[in-house]
Amino acid sequence: MERTLAIIKPDAVERGFTGKILDNIENNDLKVVALKMLHITKGEAEGFYKVHAQRPFFESLTAYMSSGVVVSAVLEGENAIKKWRDLMGATNPKDATSGTIRKEFAIDIEKNSVHGSDSPETASYEIPYFFSSLEIFSRRPTQT
Ligand code: ADP
Ligand code: MG
Repeated sequence: MERTLAIIKPDAVERGFTGKILDNIENNDLKVVALKMLHITKGEAEGFYKVHAQRPFFESLTAYMSSGVVVSAVLEGENAIKKWRDLMGATNPKDATSGTIRKEFAIDIEKNSVHGSDSPETASYEIPYFFSSLEIFSRRPTQT
């Protein structure tokens, strides 16, 4: 079992696509094991995206990600990282395959509706950035 961090970005939350996106996740063998709605600060967005600090889009991306409410979730399943990236589609919705979330909902390459960790290393940074271990549901054996 693998875990990944998903974020429903401000453009998608604002336009009312949260339910549809969570539905897509749950219909594709991914289990939501943590979920919250929050409005992050510019500084928190900068920390989250620090690998992109030298990119030309960093300023705009972090302003956008702190511009409104996001929904953040931990997803669990077999190959959860790749599975969620496949459901999301390409970064630029113009390049995304039909049926993917970004193809269906994204506005442009920046306001592209969803985030997903891109590797186990990234997931292990991103999941605790949003969730404490106590906030992540895990199935425990039933007490007898
Ligand atoms: P992904 O989210 O698909 O992993 P990246 O990690 O490359 O993509 O980029 C992080 C986020 O930065 C993207 O999801 C998108 O919101 C934004 N972004 C990426 N490339 C650009 C770009 N060329 N112009 C504007 N925003 C971008
Ligand atoms: Mg990325």
